Amino acid sequence: MAIDIEISEVGPRDGLQSIRSIMPTEAKKAWIKAQHEAGTPEIEVGSFVPPQLLPQLADTAEVVRYATTLPGLRVAALVPNRRGLEGAIAAGAQKVSIPFSMSETHSVRNVKKTHAQMREEIVRCLELLAETPAERRPAFEVGLATAFGCTIEGPIPEDRVIRMAADLVDLGVAEVGLSDTTGVGNPRQLERLARGIWSACGRERLTGVHLHNTRGQGLANALKAVELGFTTIDSSLGGIGGCPAAPGASGNIVTEDLVFLLEAMGLRTGIDLEALFAVRELVQAALPDEELYGFAAAAGLPLGFTGAAA
Ligand code: ZN
Repeated sequence: MAIDIEISEVGPRDGLQSIRSIMPTEAKKAWIKAQHEAGTPEIEVGSFVPPQLLPQLADTAEVVRYATTLPGLRVAALVPNRRGLEGAIAAGAQKVSIPFSMSETHSVRNVKKTHAQMREEIVRCLELLAETPAERRPAFEVGLATAFGCTIEGPIPEDRVIRMAADLVDLGVAEVGLSDTTGVGNPRQLERLARGIWSACGRERLTGVHLHNTRGQGLANALKAVELGFTTIDSSLGGIGGCPAAPGASGNIVTEDLVFLLEAMGLRTGIDLEALFAVRELVQAALPDEELYGFAAAAGLPLGFTGAAA
């Protein structure tokens, strides 16, 4: 089935890395399988970081290998550096994202790298990709993290984000993504950043957004992204992850609510909402101590709702 907007489910990575519970590997596989069967085209299944830093994702290589056996699923993973990229390629990931924090303070605190050092790391990643045979080479995206603002530095100058995106494209990066890591963005800011990057780098270099719902603005930003022509939106089942600083706030935007919004507007996601609600039950059962967020699943589908494909 043709789809209009590609949902990239990031719950198994962004969601699970942010909670205390460690989901057993078999439960992760069951989640990924069920969400694939519900029609999700892409799932970010883990992160290739040292297990002592993120024990929740220590089984990422195994989970990636499993996910690549699911027919038609695009298996994505996050990596912090070239070493992580090596692991992702070895496991067979088809898409790899590396976050590059637009806030240098955040970058130093998070991955202990200045902007210059992070740029060098990306060059080393590009070299590794160039040496990798085409059939094993994953799509590679640099996520412009904290592009909308930073919890440590505060506002991030928009011209800095646009300049750094252009620099990455000059280095040979095929695609960048706009990330509202801290959930501070608004739709007009998203539009300014997108138009700035498109005019500096070309439209094809930026097609995806990664949004958090920390302040309840996630779906407003997602709608703006759709209207601007973005074709990939990251979201997390049940908005897993939350935000320690904002009780009641989901982490990423909630996949169920996003799919409902898009399908109700006539935009095809390829995802069956009733099946997605069932995945939510599965995940809640596997994470009994964690709160799931969102409205669509709790309210159920409205009478006569058919979805975009019908
Ligand atoms: Zn995130």
